[in-house]
Amino acid sequence: MTVYLDNAATTPLDPRVLETMLPYLTQYFGNPSSSHAFGRKTRTAIENTRRLIARHLNCQPAEIYFTSGGTEADNLAMHAAVRDMGRKHIITALTEHSAVLKTAHRLKEKGKAQVSFVKLDDKGHVDLVDLENLLATHPGTFVSLMHANNEIATRISLEAVGELCRKYDALFHSDTVQTMGHYAFDLQKVHLHFLNASAHKFHGPKGVGFMYINRSVHIGPDIIGGGQERGIRGGTENLYGIVGIGAALDLCYRELAEHQQHIRALKQHMISRLKAEVPEVVFNGDSASEDSLYTVLNVTFPPHDNADMMLFLLDLEGIACSGGSACSSGAAKGSHVLEALHALKPRQASLRFSFSRMNTKQEIDYTVDRIVQVCRKEGVAAQ
Ligand code: PLP
Repeated sequence: MTVYLDNAATTPLDPRVLETMLPYLTQYFGNPSSSHAFGRKTRTAIENTRRLIARHLNCQPAEIYFTSGGTEADNLAMHAAVRDMGRKHIITALTEHSAVLKTAHRLKEKGKAQVSFVKLDDKGHVDLVDLENLLATHPGTFVSLMHANNEIATRISLEAVGELCRKYDALFHSDTVQTMGHYAFDLQKVHLHFLNASAHKFHGPKGVGFMYINRSVHIGPDIIGGGQERGIRGGTENLYGIVGIGAALDLCYRELAEHQQHIRALKQHMISRLKAEVPEVVFNGDSASEDSLYTVLNVTFPPHDNADMMLFLLDLEGIACSGGSACSSGAAKGSHVLEALHALKPRQASLRFSFSRMNTKQEIDYTVDRIVQVCRKEGVAAQ
């Protein structure tokens, strides 16, 4: 049996999405910038997709920009805020994705912006009092705080952070790569300037994403070329990718309630079985709470000598998840997120299991059975 529980890394393409994309890989090949019928056909497909996404997020189609994915959009938002909007101070958190963290570090290194890190609690929640203090000390900043953490599932309230940003005239960017397609968005109800999405995180194709840029924000070109994406991102559009991200998002939102219920039940089942059979497990961040991103569970197993091997042993059993464990020398190595929460411990494996609508209860049972087997062998679960 093989079990894929690394859906926060990427998800399998939904065959219905592929079906929607196929004509744009075969039949409809016109350059969307061409004015003839071939071009008009593909231009229409792109603009229809923009409208479809805008409808789902309750924003204007002109506020949606297609990109190559989440990383590009994170980079774009941060560079544009500093370059074009005069924002010289970035407030972010140590648990952000490296697309945000490394961009912030680089902007600081180059002397283009100062960076402050907001305080977090031991589950990775943003301390809103500290955020307000930072905003009050540095009004007119750029805030980048992710909607849900890809490793520990901790979420922020877009409304609460957005209101603080409004009060102190800050631009607010939220990396919504892990929540897009999993939670409903109403962009008329939040004070937010940038968000982003990556199709391969919700059963769409790789190499395509989109970005919402609020209409109040005016930025210059990020990629200079033929003026595509209203001059912000030149280059012939990823036509079939764009059609694919639209189809994937549409499926997610049309079937949202059903998917949420299914995935939440899988996660809860795994939590209950692990608690019962390996009672010393620790769930990292907020990942075992009802409020957390329901697709992600991050588990630290009790200490044992083969902690480093756990990911590999599960891989041998056909189970794909992802890791970040302390190495055998005892030196903390691995996830920068767990490190920021001081949750990396020597001789302890921390594994992230992430679920999708395509997983089954049988797969969870198989996975827990194999985990329990390893833990028993290492003497950290009851025989
Ligand atoms: N942001 C978050 C929170 C992610 O989890 C990821 C993917 O791992 C990215 C950004 C990067 O997205 P992409 O793979 O589309 O560049």
